[in-house]
Amino acid sequence: RGGQAEREIPFARPDSLTRVYAVASGKGGVGKSSVTSNLAVALADQGLTVGVVDADIYGFSIPRMLGVDRAPTQVDDMIMPPEAQGVRVISVGMFVPGNQPVVWRGPMLHRALQQFLSDVFWGDLDVLLLDLPPGTGDVAISVAQLIPGTEIIVVTTPQQAAAEVAERAGSIAAQTHQRVVGVIENMSWLELPDGSRQEIFGSGGGQHVADSLSRLMGHEVPLLGQIPLDVALREGSDAGDPVVRSAPDGPAGVALRGIARGL
Ligand code: ADP
Repeated sequence: RGGQAEREIPFARPDSLTRVYAVASGKGGVGKSSVTSNLAVALADQGLTVGVVDADIYGFSIPRMLGVDRAPTQVDDMIMPPEAQGVRVISVGMFVPGNQPVVWRGPMLHRALQQFLSDVFWGDLDVLLLDLPPGTGDVAISVAQLIPGTEIIVVTTPQQAAAEVAERAGSIAAQTHQRVVGVIENMSWLELPDGSRQEIFGSGGGQHVADSLSRLMGHEVPLLGQIPLDVALREGSDAGDPVVRSAPDGPAGVALRGIARGL
């Protein structure tokens, strides 16, 4: 849209009724995108109108997890997001030909995010979820600039080392004056056939991050929930059929639906 004035971001208006959550993690592989896609579907199942922006530029995985099988279309100069599992989705992966790696630099990422927020026809959303890249990168700062009211959800595993980097990612919110809604601990344990729990990645990471961020932010940052390891979660993500739909009464399905109800 060279030369034209930038279009307003509807979610940044003071009278916007859309709750915007950015899902952040310290490092990759902790289940941030799995949590984002499942929360989106669980919230849609509650009757809410939900959108997801996959801003994990280097590791975009939301379209596969939600089973998006269409490309965005263009109507006039707006981008229409495809819908999958009742959720409107835009991903940087939809604008990269083939499966080429993305080599964009900071300012381009900011610009892409801005376009995803202003040039996509989202309609009236109750909730918008942003899947951020792992770490304390520029994208978190961009989100804060573009939508100051964004609330942060931090995902970590129980492991101490993972918790420390998650804490750093969450602490960006203190600098940008955003609210941290809470911490979600993923991969908390494996339920064994005899009903006992094996804590594969240790324990305590989620509570530790919640306590540290509470002190740092000066407001209560709760542990929103713990999601066990569950083969059905991984299978659902691979098949584009999120676990909250494919196995809602399994360990991960129950945990994720509970967290979505509490948001
Ligand atoms: P991130 O977005 O943090 O990089 P992903 O959501 O892509 O992480 O998850 C990494 C891998 O771990 C995926 O294959 C996903 O299916 C799997 N996974 C995530 N959480 C769980 C869980 N609770 N149980 C089983 N597999 C999980």
